[in-house]
Formats: sequence, structure tokens, C-alpha cells
Amino acid sequence: MNVPFLDLKAPHEELRVELREAFDRVLDSGWYVLGEEVEQFEREFADYCGAAHCVGVGNGLDALHMIVRACGIGEGDEVIVPSNTYIATWLAVSHAGATPVPVEPDARTYNIAPASIEAAITPRTRAIIAVHLYGQPADMDAINAIAGRHGLKVIEDAAQAHGAMYKNRRVGTLGDAAGFSFYPGKNLGSLGDGGAVTTNDPALAERVRVLSNYGSRVKYHNEVKGFNTRLDELQAALLRVKLRRLDSWNERRKVVAAAYLDALAGGGLVLPYVPEWADPVWHLFAVRTPRRDALQVHLQNGGVHTMIHYPIPPHRQPAYIELAIPAGGLPIAEAISREMLSLPIGPHMARGQVEYVVACIAEYRQGGR
Ligand SMILES: *Cc1c(COP(=O)(O)O)cnc(C)c1O
Repeated sequence: MNVPFLDLKAPHEELRVELREAFDRVLDSGWYVLGEEVEQFEREFADYCGAAHCVGVGNGLDALHMIVRACGIGEGDEVIVPSNTYIATWLAVSHAGATPVPVEPDARTYNIAPASIEAAITPRTRAIIAVHLYGQPADMDAINAIAGRHGLKVIEDAAQAHGAMYKNRRVGTLGDAAGFSFYPGKNLGSLGDGGAVTTNDPALAERVRVLSNYGSRVKYHNEVKGFNTRLDELQAALLRVKLRRLDSWNERRKVVAAAYLDALAGGGLVLPYVPEWADPVWHLFAVRTPRRDALQVHLQNGGVHTMIHYPIPPHRQPAYIELAIPAGGLPIAEAISREMLSLPIGPHMARGQVEYVVACIAEYRQGGR
């Protein structure tokens, strides 16, 4: 058997007719950037998240970057970020001219540990970016309480968590603003790059909108030195089709995750931990073991494709050499990078495939390894 890490063709096969209709609508409209499809998608995605505003942008990194800038954060400022995240979270801060200050995660949820945040706050700190890693919401009440005490903005990196719930509220409305990615592999993915910002703050939404469109509200009138990072009509039209499936596909991910949690319990792997207030959407199903590399090879030999999220934490990347954080400087993030393995998961994974992955893991353990 061959189990892909994520099947990107099956979802589009399921929606082939509707996606082609959406494509034809845009093709025939003669209008390809900032038009009706984007407007409609922004309304529909804001409604889905329960947010007052949504602004489409070019990708998830730009969504976060525009938020940081729209918060007035720049040179000389510091922004608290998780030590274990995709590098985009950090880059959004750096591209605005500010400095990312890493804080270690909770060793069970892998999300930023609220108890460790306060020690990292300095007079220059302006914001906290909480990442809902692997599709599981961060502990937003605790983070908002700290931010409130210190007058900081709270930004959600929701790139992995479309539809996830924190205490019965959807991510995307839990801080000052949230950045989403519609990269094809995300829970809501376009057929190319795309992203969005959601917020309940009308002024912040307007600043993001202006910044992402050349600093312009009226064509050829430029208020600030803006960027060109817009969701295009075609991706918006395709996303509108896929948004209608998001909840049912997230439910199917939950079924796969529940099967893994049940079948792998007591099997020697550290399984995902879900706090009682979290309703995760299982962008990834990441397990932890000190013998990660050997397990990955064993599964690969059996045709099971896994991935590592992420093999090198941002502070150990050459891109962040200037922070001069030594090896061992962020031990939890570093241990996670050595021990995490993401198993195949997706809405189109068959029950037989899940059982096969579980059997391959059992076989690995019986081999005494
Ligand atoms: C994917 C991702 C991003 C960036 O999104 P892009 O659309 O690829 O720019 C940011 N943060 C996290 C946690 C992500 O997983």
C-alpha cells in the first residue's frame, strides 16, 4: 500500500464541476484582481470565522506582515513569537523591521506557554503572536490577559487552524487580528498562494487593506509606501467553493485523528494532547519519539509518507544568525525538532490507510526498535 502524506487531488476531484464553474465565471468576467469574487469571499470567510472584517492578501506570510505593520510595529520594536513554529511567523516580524523574541512552548500542547511569556517582555515589546500549531488553538485567554496587563497587541497565526475552536469561539477572532494562509496544503487551500486577515477592528482592517494594495485607497493616490499583496479573483472564486466544504472536511480529519489516538494509545509514542477547551482541526497529526528518524525510515519503506514539522527551528536557521541564539538556547523547540513526526492525515484518507499506518507502527515496535 502507498499512503501519501496528503492527497491534494482527491478533494479537487470531488469538487471538479463546481471548481470549473468558478473558473469559467472568472474567465468570462474579464476582471481578475480585486473584484466581486474577492469581495464575496471576504464576506463569507469573515462570517465563517465570526469576524467583522476580512481582507484577502497574497499569502499567509503577507497576512501576518501586514498585520504587524498595521499595528504600527517597526524598527526598534520587539514581538514575542513561539520558538517552535514555521519560520513565516518570525519573518512577518522581521519584514516589518521589528525583532522576533522567541518564547518556548508548553511541552504537551506545543503551543506557546503563557507562563513563559512575561519573562520575555521588555519596554520594547509591542505584541504577541500566538500560533495555533498543527490546528490546535493556543491558550488565548491566558495570552490576552498578559497582553492586557502590558498593553500589547495579540496577533493570531491561524495558518494551520481554519475552523478550530477555542472555548466555542472560532480562531480568527481571539486577538486583535489573525493571519490565515490558503497555501494548497492547508485545511482551506487554494490552487496557488493566498491568504487573509480577519479582525473585529475596522481601522486595523482598513490599514491592512491600504497597505496590501500599494498604500492606496483611491487608484494612483498613495498614502503610504504599500505593498502589492492581494488575493486574486480566481483564487477567491475557487476558495468560495472549497469554504463550503471546510467544516465537513475538518470533521473527516477529526475522525482520522480519533482513530489514531485510539489505536496508538499506550504504544510508546507521545500522542497529541488536547486540552478540554480546545476543538482542534488536525492540520497535522504529530507524534513524538526519540527514535523519530528510524521510525520515519521504517514507515517510508512500507510506503507510508511522513513529514517533519519542523526539522530546524527558526533560531537555528542561517536566516536568523544575527540573533546569536546558541544550540541548546531554546531546548524545548530543539527537542521537538529532533523528535516530532507528522503522520499522514487529511479529509480523503481512507479508513484502510489509517489502519495500515497503525499496523506499520505496531510492526516497527514489535521489531524491538
Ligand atoms: C503556512 C504557514 C504560514 C505561511 O503561509 P504562506 O501562505 O505559506 O505564506 C505562516 N505560519 C504558519 C504557522 C504556517 O503553517
